[in-house]
Amino acid sequence: MATIIYGSELAKELKEEMKEEVSALAREKRVPCLAVILVGDNPASLSYVTAKEKACQEIGLTSKPYRLPATSTQAEVEEVIKKCAKDEEVDGILLQLPLPKGLNEAQALECIPAEKDVDGLTTMNVGKFFLGQDSFVPCTPLGIMEILKKMNCEIDGKRAVVIGRSKLVGTPIARLLQNAGATVTICHSRTKDLPSITKEADILVAAVGKPQLFGKEYVKDGAYVIDVGVNRLENGKLCGDMKFDEVEPIAAAITPVPKGVGPMTICMLLRNTIEAYKKKEGI
Ligand code: NAP
Repeated sequence: MATIIYGSELAKELKEEMKEEVSALAREKRVPCLAVILVGDNPASLSYVTAKEKACQEIGLTSKPYRLPATSTQAEVEEVIKKCAKDEEVDGILLQLPLPKGLNEAQALECIPAEKDVDGLTTMNVGKFFLGQDSFVPCTPLGIMEILKKMNCEIDGKRAVVIGRSKLVGTPIARLLQNAGATVTICHSRTKDLPSITKEADILVAAVGKPQLFGKEYVKDGAYVIDVGVNRLENGKLCGDMKFDEVEPIAAAITPVPKGVGPMTICMLLRNTIEAYKKKEGI
């Protein structure tokens, strides 16, 4: 039987620590601030943004909401980002993705200065990260590393397999695992004989986005399994990429969906915002 690691509980612990830190910073200087920009009315994006703003509130961070209509032009979106970039009160900028069709995400992201790019998505931060320089790193991979720490998972010298090669999750988590000393294989939709590769993994990260795709034939006994996928079943319930009921009995530790990686992603956004603030204030 695996240890089930609830990201929701770990996030609660970490948020308590951050709350204390923010209150000390507020006493000494000022309250850190995250600008949250949402373009359009995609319900999933709106619920993510609401959760992020609520999390800011919980730990005492200020969030500055910017809501733009789906009909906004590229220039209008960029104008708001540039306004936040110049705003002395703003430490971090979150541009909720995806942007409505017709808008250029990459171009919009480049309007965020690297020092306020708390999602770690600008060319500067991605480049620095892959060159091993100090940078902001995307929040989901950072959250996964915290979960592995909570699982007491030794990474150095271990075999890790990441299923998924997206810019947001698969590629950066593979790099973080490699930096931590794992030998990493990245798999994707073109990978042949996937189970023979994933069966070798001491650490298995699934970031695909297809409901309950991977059963026990993909998992080594005693593996540490991180299920990043968030999928909605026909009955309305959320589930991950793993067949949880099949995999849980053979894994050493596993994350559930929901209450697994998701809450840690938000938690790392808060941490990155505090980091941005500290760098700005020279703390
Ligand atoms: P993505 O950009 O769609 O990437 C999915 C990856 O899975 C691609 O690399 C794709 O391969 C690969 N893939 C698709 N079908 C496959 C298959 N049958 N076998 C092996 N690989 C396959 O998605 P993403 O942004 O990385 O997100 C992945 C999942 O994580 C989604 O469910 C998303 O909602 C969730 N997510 C959760 C959080 C969180 O905080 N919990 C954060 C971000 C994302 P190709 O490259 O060959 O197409």
